[in-house]
Amino acid sequence: MEALSLERVANTGETLELVWADGLVQHITWSDLRRKCPCAVCQVEREKPTPVEPLKPASLLAVIDRAETLPIKPTSFRAVGNYAYAISFSDGHSSGIYSLSTLRQIGN
Ligand SMILES: [Zn+2]
Repeated sequence: MEALSLERVANTGETLELVWADGLVQHITWSDLRRKCPCAVCQVEREKPTPVEPLKPASLLAVIDRAETLPIKPTSFRAVGNYAYAISFSDGHSSGIYSLSTLRQIGN
């Protein structure tokens, strides 16, 4: 299998645009990237069974942290060697290192 390589990486605002050397173009939303963060902490989080939310009175539902309602944006995006990108997000999370194969998978 040929090694993956990117021709172009761009932030379109809502999405990360990836133009692969083999001609494939992918758009991945930043929130999707954040949800699929490959770091160890997020992997453990994802593997936990989804807790059943107890029913809350309507008044409590209105209290949502403002940060949670904002769309996730990247605050930094940098290459790590030739094979991965480190992405920091507006929610403060910055330990995700996305290898090219991970990006390719998320985009599929
Ligand atoms: Zn993470």
